[in-house]
Amino acid sequence: AKSEGRGTYRFFEAEMDALHQARRNLEVALRVALDRGELELFYQPLVNTAHHEISGFEALLRWNHPQRGIVSPLEFIPVAEELGLIKNIGRWVLHQACAEAAGWPEAVKIAVNLSSIQFRNHDLVADVASALKTSGLAPDRLELEITESLLLQDNASVLATLHQLRKLGVSISMDDFGTGYSSLSYLQKFPFDKIKIDQSFIQRLAEQDSVSIVRAVISLGKSLGMSVLAEGVETAEQLKVLQAEGCWDIQGYLVSPPKPALDTMGLIDRYCVT
Ligand code: C2E
Ligand code: CA
Ligand code: CA
Ligand code: CA
Repeated sequence: AKSEGRGTYRFFEAEMDALHQARRNLEVALRVALDRGELELFYQPLVNTAHHEISGFEALLRWNHPQRGIVSPLEFIPVAEELGLIKNIGRWVLHQACAEAAGWPEAVKIAVNLSSIQFRNHDLVADVASALKTSGLAPDRLELEITESLLLQDNASVLATLHQLRKLGVSISMDDFGTGYSSLSYLQKFPFDKIKIDQSFIQRLAEQDSVSIVRAVISLGKSLGMSVLAEGVETAEQLKVLQAEGCWDIQGYLVSPPKPALDTMGLIDRYCVT
């Protein structure tokens, strides 16, 4: 056969089999993860450093895999998207996050990530409305985070959906800003409420080029009437640069990593929300 006498090829084949098997196992486990209660939301504070207040939390999905422990969303969300599971998972995330946030002080908002795939589902607006209604959460406390890749899709229907969501009273944030393509035209197409500067720029704030980019994004956001938040702030030095540039809203390990729902009250108490 083709692999006779070719040790490296046979080795490669075995490796591929193992990879495929691992992927298959992941798929099978993911299909039942939601029903088995293995999915959990962690919450990371969004902080206004001018007032030392938590303005909200971002809900970040975790999978407590029975054998592997916590699996990163970077690994399983793409799989959930491919398998068509993201619709149900996304709906669960919306309901869970809104229900949790309904127990927080009114000034504290909840940010929920939406996958581009969820926009192909015509129930998205109804799902959001239902999560608000069931939880009793005021719509202006819900922020939906989308990425630029969404706007690369069929723009007319995406824009229509964004406008419908806005009509519900929720706000829309542009996540990972600066990592996609032609971001500037998107800002014109749809008036986001908030821009989240991608953490890759924050990590390089020691370099002047990054400072210039961050400065430009802050000024762009401000002149378009959008609020601007810096993601992935890890050090006091980064915060200092951001504040000097006029960006006071941050998220990152400097304040807190994402934590289980139980820990949110402690964070809220510590960051004295009014
Ligand atoms: P994202 O929306 O950009 O979320 C921010 C990511 O940065 C989170 O990773 C967070 O844990 C991490 N992070 C926060 N602060 C810092 C920091 O100071 N330094 C560094 N190095 N990282 C920081 P996480 O939780 O692993 O989530 C990864 C991505 O998975 C998210 O990126 C988002 O795109 C996606 N995701 C998470 N939850 C959901 C969800 O419920 N639905 C959908 N569709 N996507 C989700
Ligand atoms: Ca996000
Ligand atoms: Ca982000
Ligand atoms: Ca990201």
